[in-house]
Amino acid sequence: MKKQKIKNIGINVKPPKNECEDKKCPFHGNLKPRGRIFTGVVLAKDAHRTATIEWSYSIPIPKYERSETRRTKVHAHNPSCINAEVGNIVRIAETRALSKTKNFVIIENLGKKKGFIEELAAREEATVEGEEKPEPKGESPKKEELVEEVKEEKEEEEPAKEAKAKEPEEEAKE
Ligand SMILES: [Zn+2]
Repeated sequence: MKKQKIKNIGINVKPPKNECEDKKCPFHGNLKPRGRIFTGVVLAKDAHRTATIEWSYSIPIPKYERSETRRTKVHAHNPSCINAEVGNIVRIAETRALSKTKNFVIIENLGKKKGFIEELAAREEATVEGEEKPEPKGESPKKEELVEEVKEEKEEEEPAKEAKAKEPEEEAKE
């Protein structure tokens, strides 16, 4: 295979060492990155060269003099020459819409993020525990009791509404 020309994408990044035939590659294909640039971690990748990138940012909350950490998740194209793996820190650039939810492309792989796989596993465990806990509490007889209580409340509310409706009429007569 003859050596491919590596395009200058206009962003100061290290071009990938590998070559690829990917049309949606900014270095070897026809994709032009433009717009915003972010750095995040690869959360997941699929067979269609799509990777989910996540990064966090903190916003100050003046009332409590603390800051809140928020996370952003986007889908990005993972060109074959870069082929970022889960847990890699990558730089992504905005580009044209590549699919319904994909309008970013990975432009640089900055290597592994230490301890990210463990962090992911811990996060999954936390969500599974959170889902399982409420199940034993909500036993079937309790649910029925709740439904009955709701019905009773509704019956009580209805006469109150009628009473409210009558009041304006009386006022009008006066
Ligand atoms: Zn490429």
